[in-house]
Amino acid sequence: MGRLVEVPEYPVAEQVRVDPRRTAVVVVDMQNDFVKPEGKLYVPAAQEAIAPIARLLEKARRAGMLIIYTQDLHGEDDPEYRIWGEHVKAGTWGADIIPELAPQPGDEIVPKPRYDAFYASRMEDVLRVHKEVDTLIITGTVTNICVLHTAGSAALRWYRVIVPKDGVAALNAFDQEAALHQIDFLYKGTITTVDAIVLMD
Ligand code: ZN
Repeated sequence: MGRLVEVPEYPVAEQVRVDPRRTAVVVVDMQNDFVKPEGKLYVPAAQEAIAPIARLLEKARRAGMLIIYTQDLHGEDDPEYRIWGEHVKAGTWGADIIPELAPQPGDEIVPKPRYDAFYASRMEDVLRVHKEVDTLIITGTVTNICVLHTAGSAALRWYRVIVPKDGVAALNAFDQEAALHQIDFLYKGTITTVDAIVLMD
């Protein structure tokens, strides 16, 4: 049996104002294998994150914001298969970003081999090209795995990190709450909701 613990309080911002010129939306690993019931590592809560992420992307696109998709991607015999089994194998349906959130022309797609989107990926190059960006709104799945590692890695590089809790999904409530608490407590990120994010003119 698990032990009962209380989730320590963390603030959920009722309004977060961001400058669209200095802010990018990062959509972490919203791929068929994680989001679809037929996927190899299905995260049921990810279904509920689709609509909020879509609303955020629509708003961001209207404002001309940078949108970065990360795509977890593995080849033959990736060492991660020993932990999770085979998933998001390059060239398979499972590796594709879900059609509901299909990338549009001009969006950046950053394939990544590990949880942290900054590790062995193009992420830093993409952000260097867009050097005006100092704020990342991080969404996607899984909250306590790739979202947390990416949020932490961004914060360690002094990006301002914003995480809308309705735009991220984990396998259970403990993982979700622990990750959000960690992002607030350790990385000084702002936890909020998608509709509380206001793009300044
Ligand atoms: Zn993986």
